[in-house]
Amino acid sequence: METPEINKETVSESKVVSNFIRFIIDRDLESGKHTGVVTRFPPEPNGYLHIGHAKSICLNFGLARDYKGRCHLRFDDTNPVKEDVEYVDSIMDDVRWLGFDWNEHLYYASDYFDKLYSFAEYLIEHGKAFVCDLSFEEMRTYRGTLTVPGKNSPYRDRSVEENLKLFRAMRDGGFPDGSCSLRAKIDMSSPNVNMRDPVIYRIKKTHHHRTGSDWQIYPMYDYTHCISDALEGITHSICTLEFEDHRPLYDWFLDQLPVPCHPQQIEFARLNLTYTVMSKRLLLELVTTGLVKGWDDPRMPTIAGMRRRGFTAAAIREFADRIGVAKASSMVDDELLMFCVREDLNKSAIRAMAVLNPVKLTITNYPEDKVEELEADNNPEDASAGKRMVKFSKTLFIEREDFSENPPKGWFRLGLNNEVRLKHAYYIKCHEAVKDESGEIVELLCTYDPASRGGGTEDGRKVKGTLHWVSAAHAVPVELRLYDRLFTNSDMSVIEEGKSYKDYLNPESLIINTACMAEAALMNVKPGERFQFIRQGYFHVDKDSSEGKPVFNRIISLKDRWIAKSTK
Ligand code: ATP
Ligand code: MG
Repeated sequence: METPEINKETVSESKVVSNFIRFIIDRDLESGKHTGVVTRFPPEPNGYLHIGHAKSICLNFGLARDYKGRCHLRFDDTNPVKEDVEYVDSIMDDVRWLGFDWNEHLYYASDYFDKLYSFAEYLIEHGKAFVCDLSFEEMRTYRGTLTVPGKNSPYRDRSVEENLKLFRAMRDGGFPDGSCSLRAKIDMSSPNVNMRDPVIYRIKKTHHHRTGSDWQIYPMYDYTHCISDALEGITHSICTLEFEDHRPLYDWFLDQLPVPCHPQQIEFARLNLTYTVMSKRLLLELVTTGLVKGWDDPRMPTIAGMRRRGFTAAAIREFADRIGVAKASSMVDDELLMFCVREDLNKSAIRAMAVLNPVKLTITNYPEDKVEELEADNNPEDASAGKRMVKFSKTLFIEREDFSENPPKGWFRLGLNNEVRLKHAYYIKCHEAVKDESGEIVELLCTYDPASRGGGTEDGRKVKGTLHWVSAAHAVPVELRLYDRLFTNSDMSVIEEGKSYKDYLNPESLIINTACMAEAALMNVKPGERFQFIRQGYFHVDKDSSEGKPVFNRIISLKDRWIAKSTK
């Protein structure tokens, strides 16, 4: 495949933060080692993509974009047992949703099965691979340990002819699963365990989601990956740190084989997030055991979950840029992701008023049947979002938490005889809290200052608190799903002895609120729309909404936890 020519001028103009990978690429372009950049994102279709994959996608597709190269999407589908078409489809959706495009460069490792097979015969013919009859357990004992060198397999010195005959018989289904394998002949005493005659092909009489029952043997990842990279003309093969020790093997295969080029493998640290598990195995388990409601449950760290929750692609890309790329493993604070989401939504989300925990408020000096239409900004950050009219009347709802009979020091919300502003409306003062037999407040009796319409007065007196509200007769009930962190443990890689990750599930990760009363306009929303409920947070209309029954996911509260704590 041709390597695209780089346009250096555009690159130097683009506003990018450098990192060690860009440094390597710049050097390769300068020295003429490469004339352009080709990267790839190589997911295994055995689960949905998560925020860690988003980091890798933004990195690989971002490099291709900035260097005017290209990035391939390649499904690493060499393990037929765990793979599924549902995953392939979801991965394509997620990459596109994140804002990236592989154009015509969609590949499957399984497309290379014929070539991979021929290369394996090539290795045999050159005395670099042999068929080994050791079982996997025996192989493990022969392999040695980090400190003890391995021992050669008793089958290592089979002739080329015998190996070819046996390998073809493996291919043709002549042996049962696990009875033998094809191994590279490298060095059983290598200090790098990966180099101790690794398996290249294993027998697996399993149906494959693309090649059906064509194959009874499947190539191993380490063998497949480097050859796929070379066949596609990848220049920089970027992967996570756990593959660092596999790099000598990556290079060894490419050095032995007549491949068109030799890509450079570069490793970076994977993303770890606080309060989050990212192992596909655990995410799958959460789904299959029903601990969450599917891969796109809004509490999941999957791209599908974050999208359903209401995160924007722009926020995720911004997060990926901010965390950058490094060699050292680290744990990223989930609040940074939340910060990026909040910052992006603040610019774009339409404002609305919704009262989550309503208490009735009556304005005793307001005319009985009067209804006023008051003007409200749709987004104070964006004048082009326009204005809307909200209805005001004698009976309102405000948040129960916004009233206190015995307010603590520094209380700016409603109390007896203190004045607050109702957003977009009037100043009010509370004179009495009416209670039921149990002592619970059922109604607040207030008066308003008609001269304060729109939120100010002629005498210029100031009030400190501003509350949101809805007109009781005009408000509509909406369902809210209030999401929080799925886990309570900040570092989910540290699990106390005798416990499992499930012991750290947050029992309050989802609270369903059906008491909420919202501005009437929120009855006519469409899935995908996002709002800021003022003073409450950002909300996203869920796909579970139906005509007259809107359901909102809380994307995130307005304040980050640190601020929330310090102002409690
Ligand atoms: P596994 O291989 O165990 O199924 P994986 O998370 O490595 O899981 P892949 O589908 O192989 O899943 O990953 C595709 C790409 O995403 C790989 O290049 C991998 O390095 C990268 N990737 C996976 N997890 C992270 C992460 N947490 N941070 C950054 N990149 C990641
Ligand atoms: Mg992997």
